[in-house]
Amino acid sequence: MSGLSGRTALVTGGSRGIGRSIARRLARDGALVAVHYGGNETAAKETVAGIEADGGQAFALGAELGVPGDAAALWAAFDEGLERRGAEPGLDILVNNAGITLPRQIADVTEEDYDRVFAVNVRAPFFLIQQGLGRLRDGGRIINISSGATRIAFPRTVAYSMTKGALDTLTLTLALALGPRGITVNTVAPGIVDTEINPHLKDPRVRAELASFSVFDRIGQPSDIADVVAFVAGDDARWITGQYLDATGGAHLGV
Ligand code: NAP
Repeated sequence: MSGLSGRTALVTGGSRGIGRSIARRLARDGALVAVHYGGNETAAKETVAGIEADGGQAFALGAELGVPGDAAALWAAFDEGLERRGAEPGLDILVNNAGITLPRQIADVTEEDYDRVFAVNVRAPFFLIQQGLGRLRDGGRIINISSGATRIAFPRTVAYSMTKGALDTLTLTLALALGPRGITVNTVAPGIVDTEINPHLKDPRVRAELASFSVFDRIGQPSDIADVVAFVAGDDARWITGQYLDATGGAHLGV
């Protein structure tokens, strides 16, 4: 029996990039995985098909985040997806992964940019958790995907970095509040990872420069992050809560 067998997980933004890798890994560990997407249903279906081809269980659900009523719409689609499969209602693992970047220095950030990045990266996971707490079983897991940009200053993404700082504080605060229910709440913080959020990685010079941030001198792969998330989601991490797990490949550790 695999470690997560009998558990249900929801991965927001599980359709592509890091979220896809997390979804595949949690399914490989035995969980039934709800693969959430915003607009790209095809990518979500591909992720589900990949999981099923590996012998795992998954279903796709769509809900745009960062708009009024997003959390309620996502949970309604989640409940319906479980019911359609004849699965038990509720969940054990919530991974708040969906996010957008904003590659702008402070002088170039408009009020609309600012509101949008906070709506998707902070407001959405906040209300997802709020409205999901009745569904999340005791002993469960909340894992928030942050960024190394809350440990390392990147003026080029100031507002984005601030959104991840808010998530880090959410992790710390909720870990205390949810301890009595045996729910752990942790942050996993990737560094530079090879996904579509980083189109500039196609330029070999930029790629080499960003790879050099890590002591291992390479760009992170989605599986580098998914493996850390799987650890936090599993029983071996039962005594870890309220923590920030740096998964940046030792980016900018020193001079
Ligand atoms: P990605 O490849 O762009 O994938 C983003 C995922 O989030 C997709 O599944 C997308 O679904 C979903 N999503 C985005 N906006 C959404 C919205 N408004 N409503 C609903 N779903 C939405 O990004 P990634 O690189 O995998 O990033 C995943 C997480 O890791 C993000 O929180 C990001 O900030 C964090 N992170 C990434 C890096 C990196 O270098 N890649 C570094 C540090 C932190 P649709 O395509 O259907 O919209």
